[in-house]
Amino acid sequence: MLAVPLFLDAKLEPPLTSLLASSRFLHDLVDGLGSPLNVVLPDRIAENVTRFRSVYHRHRLRGEISFAHKANRSSALVRRLATTDSAMDVASLGELQHALACGFTSDRISATGPKEPEFLWLAARTGITVNIEGQAELHSLAALVRHHALPRVRVLLRLSDFSGTPVKVLSRRSRFGVPASELAVLLDACERHQETVEVIGVSYHLDTTSIEEKALALEGCVRAMDACRERGMRPRVIDIGGGFGVSYLADGAQWERYTSQLTLAAMGRREALAWRNHTYGLSSEGGTLRGSLDLYPSHRPVAGADYLDELLRSPAPTLGRPLATLLLENLYDLCVEPGRALLDQCGLTLARVLETRRETDGTHSVRLAMNADDCALEEHGILMDPVVLRRHKPWEATDGSGDSFGVHLFGNLCLESDLITRRLVSLPLLPAPGDLLAFPNTAGYCMDFNAHHAQRRPLARKVAAFRGPDGWQWRLDDQYWPLHSAEDAHEV
Ligand SMILES: *Cc1c(COP(=O)(O)O)cnc(C)c1O
Repeated sequence: MLAVPLFLDAKLEPPLTSLLASSRFLHDLVDGLGSPLNVVLPDRIAENVTRFRSVYHRHRLRGEISFAHKANRSSALVRRLATTDSAMDVASLGELQHALACGFTSDRISATGPKEPEFLWLAARTGITVNIEGQAELHSLAALVRHHALPRVRVLLRLSDFSGTPVKVLSRRSRFGVPASELAVLLDACERHQETVEVIGVSYHLDTTSIEEKALALEGCVRAMDACRERGMRPRVIDIGGGFGVSYLADGAQWERYTSQLTLAAMGRREALAWRNHTYGLSSEGGTLRGSLDLYPSHRPVAGADYLDELLRSPAPTLGRPLATLLLENLYDLCVEPGRALLDQCGLTLARVLETRRETDGTHSVRLAMNADDCALEEHGILMDPVVLRRHKPWEATDGSGDSFGVHLFGNLCLESDLITRRLVSLPLLPAPGDLLAFPNTAGYCMDFNAHHAQRRPLARKVAAFRGPDGWQWRLDDQYWPLHSAEDAHEV
């Protein structure tokens, strides 16, 4: 038993709560389909779109909510999205083919990221919107359209590095897009290619949690739109990318406590919190704390649609008016590309417990039928406890004594470093062989982005779960088609 348990309870909302309460159903699924197993919740992604849309309504804004496909490969989720008013942002040829095959028409698809000739070809052929990442890409696209005599392609100019303003806000460089200071040169090229491309607006995507940095970028985009208009173009869209974030933990105080204890461990002022005293980027030098925490902020006071709301309420750094007002005044459409945020609460990853072993220091080693890349929480810096689903005593509750067990969660690879998380996890129950560990809220990046076939182990299967008239039902992910809406299902 651990002296002071450091729980990191997952934030759980419906329908994930009800799925986790259906232990028998989840055990049956893993018995039949193997461990690990990913479960996605298509109806929840539709609800998340509605939450984003309500922020648009609040600010009287129009424009597309595009799901950044790269965050999850699921077909069920994309098909369910096709039935909503959302759009898709694709970052590869395969994702574009998938979006088309799942029911998205080309007016609801945009492409971002580095693009091979084949990807550009299909993009131009099908007439989707293309985010231009640089001069070279613009020239390739224009040449392709001219060569095949295709209709003009709608493009967004992706900008980065908005630091050239009088306001002192950090604006980090990005590998992608064109620095805002070089817009004029890009616009010259667009003018030369005006028979092949139509500039409909500008975009950015910043991998940051900072509202200030994003406000600076959004205002920079408004200025870039002015520059387009001065040249007689008629831009109408500002696309502000993704990065709205998810709050993974139920309790901010647990997160505060954990990170302050981690600091103490890095300073050598308490026992280790993780395997081989890993300290997540922190270290101590002569009694002084060094480094910075390389973790996702697992508890966030404002995330997802609420983060968009906060950004839109923020004043533009130099123009002063709220950003939403600035967009409205110009009648610009606002596009967003949430990946992680649209996948919040949209599924979980299940793993079977193979072995539990007591170590001499009183902790336990728990070996799972899964490896660290099957459930890439650690890779993405997310710290969050799994839920124990007993095989034989599904209704066992903790005895309320607050006791806990410190466990290291090991994967199934012959690799020293294969820990599901390097942190010593505090659990209220000691997992036994045959039990399941459910890792909640893994749909964003943690299900299939890092999964591989090492040791010829099969990839996790994926199923879509939804509530039918008699409780939970499931389909293999590629067998799920939203022929009936969630409302119909309850009426049948
Ligand atoms: C990855 C990515 C997104 C999605 O980011 P999230 O943090 O998952 O919201 C959106 N747009 C672009 C261009 C991206 O590369």
